[in-house]
Amino acid sequence: MEKLIVDMDDVITENGFIRIINEFLNSNYKPEDAESYYINDLIPKEKLEEWVKFYKEKNVYDYVNLVEGAIEALEKLNEKYDLYIATAYVFRDAPEVSGKTLNDKYNYLIKNLPFIDPHKFIFISNKELLEADIRIDDSPKKLVGKARLKLLFTAYHNKDMTDEELKENNFIRVNSWKEVEKILL
Ligand SMILES: [Mg+2]
Repeated sequence: MEKLIVDMDDVITENGFIRIINEFLNSNYKPEDAESYYINDLIPKEKLEEWVKFYKEKNVYDYVNLVEGAIEALEKLNEKYDLYIATAYVFRDAPEVSGKTLNDKYNYLIKNLPFIDPHKFIFISNKELLEADIRIDDSPKKLVGKARLKLLFTAYHNKDMTDEELKENNFIRVNSWKEVEKILL
């Protein structure tokens, strides 16, 4: 079986950070309002300390929704591929709370992806260290390392990547899990 590594945030789940930020700021931002990959950059600098305190008390995964078709697709892919979920967990704004984030991620994964062996959940920062035949990620920076196929899952922060840039990086853009299924199943 080929080894397939799939990212979690903005590939399997979405909208957690934007909803928690809106609750904190009492705002109505949408993901596309973020000017970078780090949606937390929407928090004004003077509120950063307060934000970290707020975030610590919350579980981002109480705020997410599943990306449409993710579970159905992963269930099928798990039959055909040696499937791993690889997700980063270090919280940039306050690395000391990352252990809690890891715990929240793990609990979400075992609950929502019960058909995947928990030994195949990987919590990591540098995904380049992982070997894979196929990778799926929304972050161009994390879609690194060897692979015969790299699928860039469309998200608010990578929409502007041109066809030329995709080609240079050997990425194939996928806009939905249906498109992933078409390529991999
Ligand atoms: Mg991601």
